[in-house]
Amino acid sequence: MSTASPDCLFCKILTGDIAADVIYESDTAIAFRDINPKAPTHVLIIPRKHIATINDIGEDDHSIVGSLYAAAREIAADEGIANDGYRAVMNCNAAAGQTVFHIHLHLLGGRELGWPPG
Ligand code: AMP
Ligand code: ZN
Repeated sequence: MSTASPDCLFCKILTGDIAADVIYESDTAIAFRDINPKAPTHVLIIPRKHIATINDIGEDDHSIVGSLYAAAREIAADEGIANDGYRAVMNCNAAAGQTVFHIHLHLLGGRELGWPPG
């Protein structure tokens, strides 16, 4: 399952070379707290497989991507934000503000979230 990319920050978190506050692990995904949180709950859910952007998601990756949402549901319940509401969002490429090129679902909650985002 693991396809580590040598210069990828999140692959280094997956291998344990860089520390993170990991709160969830499954066969296909892990989740850890964002180092610069934008909400009381701000968790990043990433696949174990290195996929750079949404544009690089292959036909064979659909169940992996689905598992990111399954993780979001579970973590939101654990964080106590499932009923009030939360956002699960993935940025793609520069105009959307993607800075780490290993796909990650931002799970944000614990406060009122404006729409549309900036
Ligand atoms: P994006 O801008 O969508 O690519 O999101 C990247 C996110 O990764 C940002 O919210 C950063 O705060 C977060 N981040 C960067 N480095 C780390 C790290 N070492 N541990 C946890 N989160 C990180
Ligand atoms: Zn990676």
